[in-house]
Amino acid sequence: MKQKKFILSESEIPTQWYNIQADMPNKPLPPLNPQTRQPLGWEDLAHIFPTECCKQELNTTDRFIDIPEPVLEKYKFYRSTPLVRAYELEKALDTPAHIYFKNESTNPLGSHKVNSALAQCYYAKQEGTTNVTTETGAGQWGAALSYAARVFGLEAAVYQVKISMLQKPYRSSIMRTFGATVEGSPSMSTRAGKDIITKNPMHMGSLGTAISEAVELAITTPNCKYTLGSVLNHVALHQSIIGLEAEKQMEKAGEYPDTVIACFGGGSNFGGLAFPFMRHNILDGKRTEFIAAEPDSCPKLTRGRFEYDFGDEAGLTPLLPMYTLGHDFRPANIHAGGLRYHGAGMIVSQLIKDGLMHGVDIPQLETFEAGILFARTEGIIPAPESSHAIAATIREALKCKETGEEKVILFNLSGHGLIDMTAYDQYINGDLVNYHVSDEEIANNHFGVK
Ligand SMILES: *Cc1c(COP(=O)(O)O)cnc(C)c1O
Repeated sequence: MKQKKFILSESEIPTQWYNIQADMPNKPLPPLNPQTRQPLGWEDLAHIFPTECCKQELNTTDRFIDIPEPVLEKYKFYRSTPLVRAYELEKALDTPAHIYFKNESTNPLGSHKVNSALAQCYYAKQEGTTNVTTETGAGQWGAALSYAARVFGLEAAVYQVKISMLQKPYRSSIMRTFGATVEGSPSMSTRAGKDIITKNPMHMGSLGTAISEAVELAITTPNCKYTLGSVLNHVALHQSIIGLEAEKQMEKAGEYPDTVIACFGGGSNFGGLAFPFMRHNILDGKRTEFIAAEPDSCPKLTRGRFEYDFGDEAGLTPLLPMYTLGHDFRPANIHAGGLRYHGAGMIVSQLIKDGLMHGVDIPQLETFEAGILFARTEGIIPAPESSHAIAATIREALKCKETGEEKVILFNLSGHGLIDMTAYDQYINGDLVNYHVSDEEIANNHFGVK
């Protein structure tokens, strides 16, 4: 019988994360202080983030970094995650390609985000922090952080984008079940929130407003640190557990990927799966193709500019060198909330510039069509974000059907969609549409500081 699933025993789970910064032919440019335009050191970031995360953020020398024992212990609650051969999907597409997916949806929180939440909360606790805060859009990151804070004995305060809180009420319930305080953003609990509400009482919030509130809370509250679920280098570092496991599992399957695909919001699940394989392109002459699948309504990888820009709408963060659509770009209200972000992480931006990977744009309706085909063949309802990776995989598999190539394609199933069923209902009822962005819309946005 053909083997479907490849799993690691506890003793085979990697004990170090992989830091691609050590191997990059060109290192990412440094983040800058927006006022002085001077490069920032880890000391400059440590009043906001846990100190160890700041050091990891700027570490361009250590290829492997030990996973702390208590984090590894918690990883064992849900890792390894299965590597699965998608035989039924292959059959439905009638493709000679071999399709594998790494299933990060099997933990109870439903996405890959917990891999970094556990690390960030552990480091925060180690340095004497009592409280952590963050923002969340659709709520996967907020849910993961709320659980991780509970695990390490921290109080968590989460600012959730108000419109998402109304659209996906169960994610707030999950966060509160783990003991977090959840506020719809903009809220009346911060200066930033009050200012926004005073100007516009009906403001329904954005990741930009929620980041501004969470950062303010962290700066003004003693023993409180801010945490972020994507974009930054240390988050991609923690997520590398995905690709390091997948590398061992592909070996068990007796194959090596020709193509690696993941959906792309800020780059954490993409980097997590892709970077451990990309090191073999950089160091060992492998020729794997790396594809990041983004929504065509938020096309920063393919149509953004490489510039220094703010990470948030209000302009409170350091300036980051990245492919961006401009920090006040307002992505359309697609259901893949985790992909509605204006910029790409610093590492990925440099890798695109250096031609080591590329992006593809997928329209919303194609992602739902792909997600439903995947559900009907492989039995898992994917997160709308993950369906972008599935759609890109299907495109590649259909190319193989034309050329007859037996390519090995590996994609990341970053999460399940069981809290997103309203979106599936809307698609099935014919109520969803595509949102293509015009060149004018992109040209009219504000990039960096002028
Ligand atoms: C947050 C999220 C994403 C997007 O974030 P990345 O940092 O780009 O990975 C993708 N999929 C799921 C399920 C998410 O929760």
